[in-house]
Amino acid sequence: MQVAIVGNGIAGTTTARFVGERVPDAKITIYSREPYAYYSRPRLIDFIAGEAPLEGMPQYDAAWYEKRHIETCLSCEVASIDTAGKTLTLSSGQQHSYDVLVLATGANAFVPPIAGVEKKGVGTLRTLQDAVTLCQAAQCCDRIVVLGGGLLGLDTAISFIHFGTAVTVVEAQPWLLPRQLDREGAAVLQHMVESRGVRVITDDLCLQVLGEEQVEGIRLKSGLELPACQLVISAGVRANIALAKQAGLACNRGILVNERMETSAPQVYAVGDCAEFNGNVWGIIPVALAQARVAASQIAGEVTTLYTDLVPSTTLQVGGIELTSIGEVNPVGEGFQEYRYADDAHAVYKKVVVRDGIVVGAIMFGDRSDLPAITRLVSQKIDVTAVASRLVSSDFNVGDWLKSATA
Ligand SMILES: Cc1cc2nc3c(=O)[nH]c(=O)nc-3n(C[C@H](O)[C@H](O)[C@H](O)COP(=O)(O)OP(=O)(O)OC[C@H]3O[C@@H](n4cnc5c(N)ncnc54)[C@H](O)[C@@H]3O)c2cc1C
Repeated sequence: MQVAIVGNGIAGTTTARFVGERVPDAKITIYSREPYAYYSRPRLIDFIAGEAPLEGMPQYDAAWYEKRHIETCLSCEVASIDTAGKTLTLSSGQQHSYDVLVLATGANAFVPPIAGVEKKGVGTLRTLQDAVTLCQAAQCCDRIVVLGGGLLGLDTAISFIHFGTAVTVVEAQPWLLPRQLDREGAAVLQHMVESRGVRVITDDLCLQVLGEEQVEGIRLKSGLELPACQLVISAGVRANIALAKQAGLACNRGILVNERMETSAPQVYAVGDCAEFNGNVWGIIPVALAQARVAASQIAGEVTTLYTDLVPSTTLQVGGIELTSIGEVNPVGEGFQEYRYADDAHAVYKKVVVRDGIVVGAIMFGDRSDLPAITRLVSQKIDVTAVASRLVSSDFNVGDWLKSATA
């Protein structure tokens, strides 16, 4: 069986790995338009922070791929697919046939249409090449502005500090990590981020990038002007669906898939940041891994393995800040109870959101000792009615209670 995988991010590589381990006669080829073998995108932060050398970025050596009969075709962009003829064409014009195709084309950084955004010195962080370019820029730039105070924006801002450059984060929403935190939790986070030397501006919008050809600063809606020689835009991602659209596959925000990760064309699967299931395109690693496992199982003939949407969980772990946010943390509507615990002196903030006796969201900031137990409560929908108000107390051990409750 000839299995072609487009994209060598975590979704494509994990699919290849599981197919290679389960289907001994599969001949697997991964096509990647990037010149590098698989590397972890979260490690790009370590790379910028000077904690991971370039040569240490690829995760697996040649023997790893060989053992799983995986061939990689690097700097190979797939330009088009013919799903009827089961062939794909590279930008070089070369054609290859396949029996099964997996689209793992990921996502691209979104760049909002801000006036002047095309100037030199405006960048995004998605690929290793982006990280290399940003590091080169940071070495000769004394003021960097990061647009976007989400997880990636904050990670990126903190990773620049060691260059000795002044770093400012601008977030359009009233507080940092608006998708993962509430106002109270964000206040604790902002204090920690600022204490690491990053200036934070919230509730303000970048309207214009200043400068002639090279960025010299930005102008905000409030009228404030911030000088900058490098601007990093961290305004979310968009699923990379261009290839799928060209091939006539059904797409919305992502490539539409069912619980088998099948697209609208036979023998074509989609996984990871490019796939849309049930109206969701999560853009996070746990989802990419789960979807890759399902696609590989289907390809291996284990057709009862199906994908069910996960409760999204994201973690910020940079510069001594440890924060995990799960599920619904800013509930809108009725029927939710919110329980909080704050210890400002130790920069601890915990919150759980409960609906009908079930934990549907949680913030664990500064003290994540209960995280595994809380994660289980959310994913297994365990009734916490009897202890809901105590779940975040410093003298209550969620793990111990869970053990006795489920014994
Ligand atoms: C700096 C950074 C930090 C992150 N940290 C976290 C984190 O802590 N936790 C978390 O859950 N998520 C994190 N993410 C998000 C996470 O990396 C993504 O969810 C994950 O990479 C998605 O994997 P993927 O394989 O679906 O897509 P991608 O990693 O985007 O890989 C897709 C690949 O396909 C290639 N491709 C696309 N089109 C073609 C084509 N036509 N031909 C050939 N190749 C093609 C692309 O070049 C790319 O290499 C982070 C992202 C970044 C950038």
